[in-house]
Amino acid sequence: MIELTEDSPLTKLVAKAPAVLLAKNKGLETVGDLFDYLPRRYLPPGQLTDLAALAPGEDVMVVAEVDHASSRSMRGRKGRLLTVVLRDAGGGRLDLTFFNAHGHEAKLRPGRKGFFAGTVGIYGGRLQLTHPDYELFDDEVKEEVAVRRYQTHQVPVYSATGKLYSFKIRRIVEHALDSVDRIREPVPVEVMAVRGLTSRADALEMVHRPGIDEDPGPGVHRLKYDEAFVLQTILAQRRKAAEADTATPRLPRLGGLLAAFDARLPFELTAGQQQVGETLTRELASERPMNRLLQGEVGSGKTVVALRAMLAVIDAGGQAALLAPTEVLAAQHYRSITSLLGDLAMGGLLGGSDVGTTVALLTGSQGALARRAALLDAASGRAGIVVGTHALIQKHVQFADLALVVVDEQHRFGVEQRDALREKGIRPPHVLVMTATPIPRTVAMTVFGDMETSTLRELPAGRSPITTHVVDADKPNWVDRTWERVAEEVGKGHQAYVVCPRIGDLGPALNTALDPALDPDLRGPVGLAADSSDEESDDWDVSPEEEGGQRELTGVHTMLRQLRANPALDGVRIGMLHGRLDAETRDETMRAFESAELDVLVATTVIEVGVDVANASVMVVVDADRFGISQLHQLRGRVGRGDVPGLCLLMTRDASATAADRLAQVAATTDGFELSRVDLMFRREGDVLGARQSGRGNSVRHLRLGRRADEQIIADARDDAFGLIASDPELTGHPDLVAAVAARLDEEQAAYLERG
Ligand code: ADP
Ligand code: MG
Repeated sequence: MIELTEDSPLTKLVAKAPAVLLAKNKGLETVGDLFDYLPRRYLPPGQLTDLAALAPGEDVMVVAEVDHASSRSMRGRKGRLLTVVLRDAGGGRLDLTFFNAHGHEAKLRPGRKGFFAGTVGIYGGRLQLTHPDYELFDDEVKEEVAVRRYQTHQVPVYSATGKLYSFKIRRIVEHALDSVDRIREPVPVEVMAVRGLTSRADALEMVHRPGIDEDPGPGVHRLKYDEAFVLQTILAQRRKAAEADTATPRLPRLGGLLAAFDARLPFELTAGQQQVGETLTRELASERPMNRLLQGEVGSGKTVVALRAMLAVIDAGGQAALLAPTEVLAAQHYRSITSLLGDLAMGGLLGGSDVGTTVALLTGSQGALARRAALLDAASGRAGIVVGTHALIQKHVQFADLALVVVDEQHRFGVEQRDALREKGIRPPHVLVMTATPIPRTVAMTVFGDMETSTLRELPAGRSPITTHVVDADKPNWVDRTWERVAEEVGKGHQAYVVCPRIGDLGPALNTALDPALDPDLRGPVGLAADSSDEESDDWDVSPEEEGGQRELTGVHTMLRQLRANPALDGVRIGMLHGRLDAETRDETMRAFESAELDVLVATTVIEVGVDVANASVMVVVDADRFGISQLHQLRGRVGRGDVPGLCLLMTRDASATAADRLAQVAATTDGFELSRVDLMFRREGDVLGARQSGRGNSVRHLRLGRRADEQIIADARDDAFGLIASDPELTGHPDLVAAVAARLDEEQAAYLERG
């Protein structure tokens, strides 16, 4: 017999075809992965089925015999329709329907017996199962064993893939459980005792092979704990390793740039800003590299806090890099930082302050000349602050003395990218990560678990409230009223955003009489750039789930046309912004909106993060049901930033209960922390953690980060893991945990390489 461990590839366990299917469709590569593939539900153990007693809508698993079968071709469709009639001992009947007879017809011969599982439907007055899962008994002996087992155990139902039905997966899992000699036990016995956990081996049996009266719950709990514990062990080790690094202490300087900046700040810092500022000053002055996450509500003033930290390191002779996820945001940061700094940003220039510095901007799409100048400024140390996109991470970008790395909107960057920037310092630089999406504690503890966190809870004084309404877009007068409201706000001198879920086609009916200066569309081949090699293209228009919609979603182009043709908006200047426009046009449009040369900006989610125009008072989100909760919250945060009350109108044509519920939740509260927790309940973790963090390896399998119960599991596992690493940093006494950690890191590495 072959020696199987949890790390063995599945090909050692099963034939190539199913192994490939499991890997490709379910991301299962090893035997351990298979163990972590949990059943979706369980069929209750049962007696031999009385077919006459079945009721429509029931999930059933019947044991029965094929009475007869027939197939016929279908009109207008490929394949043959197969109908199989089952019978039980007492003369009851049940139909099975397969829309593709292929593969089933040969097997489902009269007289064959087996398990058949599915949801009971009704067609033509007869009960039936459509495309049931089934497993035939091959001979009398097996039949008896199988039936006995059916009576003593619940039958797990796995999510099937292709021809790999739940039954087959179940058999593979059972085979794996029986073939692996020793199931790993990553959790130390003391911890198991304290937390009241079952062993991992028992947990796997409970989950995959629960007995007739057994509750798989404790098994699932144990697997969740396992996942959390291994993750937290990795984080604890990371933290430990970071503590061993030494950074150059950056001591505050009296009468320096920071002092000059503070002196001319047009507002008072909030108590929170002050407090976080003190923490940062202290950590920057330390030999231990700072590794801190700064989170806070949209508009809570994180950027000012980060800028003050940057100025502090410049005062100490170092440089700061600010990494932004998109070009729009990088350009925006560059503009707002230079404007906040005023003449302090004209270091070395005539008319500049004598304590000033230089701010450089480095992005992928800028011209060669500007780029070379920025590179030179960074390398020579002339630039105290270098703002940029991913372009900053590239190898040839060098700094004279990089002291602080600030990462904005971290959820769009992977840990690896953070590390790449960190390597650009002479010694490890201090790192400050800012996120504008408030992060629930569960996510903070997992994704950012190796960092310390600071939170800005209050908004700067004088912030105006935002009102949110859901607009039923199927009611024409509601829609009219929406655009009237936009017109009213514009009439009062304010501005509006209209966000659409997609860019859409240009459309044939575009009015060529439009002012080409304001319509970037008319300048070049839109659409050609859709798959351009722009390194950031996948960050653009990170749009809501595209798939699954039957309705045509409203595109930016269509909306622009409609609004320009809308008499209510006569004379209103409307522009457009999306990721397929070239960088120059995007920049120009943003500038035009910032300087109020445009009244309304029709855009995709490119404006989701960080865009800051205090004069904007309305945010209309079209097809709002297609956006995630956090995304809507982000979008809403674009208004109400000045002293003008904000209005957010969520338009939807989706009357479904979930859509209504989600939108109602957004309308009900502006508490970003609460919303991001709710968001986690509605969406898959990977989506919330951001595209770059999702996929195999980086997401969680068992934990549900939106659940309060799971928050406790993570917190417990965190205590246990950090405690363990404190007493046994190398885990010398815990070989199984070392193996589990290695398996997890391997996966993350593989996922990283796949993403490229
Ligand atoms: P965040 O990055 O957290 O979304 P910003 O730093 O961009 O928030 O701040 C939003 C706006 O509030 C900016 O225009 C900023 O200048 C302003 N601001 C920041 N701090 C204060 C404060 N303490 N008082 C008044 N306005 C502030
Ligand atoms: Mg910001």
